Amino acid sequence: MKKFRQQTLGELGELGVIRRLVHGLPARADVVVGPGDDCAVVRIADKARYDYLLKSDPVVEGVHFTRETPGAAVGHKALARVLSDMAAMGGEGLWALVDITAPAGTSLARLMAIRAGLSKLARRWRVAIVGGDVSRGRDLAVHVFGVGRVPRGQAVLRSGARKGDYLFVTGTLGGSERGKHLKFEPRLAEGQWLRNRHWATAMIDLSDGLATDLKHLIRSSRVGAELWLNAIPLSPAVKKTTSWRKAAQRAITDGEDYELLFSVPTAKSAELLRAWKKVFAAPCTYIGRITSQRYVIAGLDARGRRIPLKAAGYEHFR
Ligand SMILES: [Mg+2]
Repeated sequence: MKKFRQQTLGELGELGVIRRLVHGLPARADVVVGPGDDCAVVRIADKARYDYLLKSDPVVEGVHFTRETPGAAVGHKALARVLSDMAAMGGEGLWALVDITAPAGTSLARLMAIRAGLSKLARRWRVAIVGGDVSRGRDLAVHVFGVGRVPRGQAVLRSGARKGDYLFVTGTLGGSERGKHLKFEPRLAEGQWLRNRHWATAMIDLSDGLATDLKHLIRSSRVGAELWLNAIPLSPAVKKTTSWRKAAQRAITDGEDYELLFSVPTAKSAELLRAWKKVFAAPCTYIGRITSQRYVIAGLDARGRRIPLKAAGYEHFR
């Protein structure tokens, strides 16, 4: 066993690294939710109508996009990822700061295109970009720090799922590397609606793949889940995959879907689907159920037979 100090990020994996970084961080009484959910939640004043959401996120060339990715798509993605996390709390975005690091040889046109992509999305969701900074760096990277809000005490956390709740997902899953990860629209309207009508007991956005993000949700809620593999809405890109099983496997591990995964009490589930269809064009599908078998995800086929899941989603450092 290697000593703590000698372990590399690659050996620890993203979650191992994060767990070590967040343990015992300084806190304050006005922090409602600290590290470990989609956003942090803070309360500015005791009588405020809103709680505030804080979220930061980097996108890095060679990791989240390539040299060939158009600048506007890079800017869009950088802000959309942060807004997607706010959507997962049922919140709205308000302000953003943007830091850019870039090699000196980067063209100004590329930076201006990134700016254009950021601005267009920000304008659409009424987010003000209020500052930031630039620095020389080895890789082109865009870091967005966003502030959003949610009515006081109403942030939808990952921790509220209860045994028997149905699991729902928006949109379709898998095959995001074909371009969706650069173009997706954060599900802010859907997230706010789910929070406002008190449909969702727990919610998370899908960034690392259904299997991994569902694991986060059941861990936070101290429950388990049953996943109905044949019910998972497949994207056209993975539908073409040769076998049903391979397609389902990809849909749960591909990552970067930026859809919402949420749980809804059984009694409300049918009503939710009816109400949803009247408001949103995107599909909303139930794909499983919360169980009391703590931390276990059971994959079931159409006949209820258990299928072993390879739960590896996207993982930084590996
Ligand atoms: Mg998230």
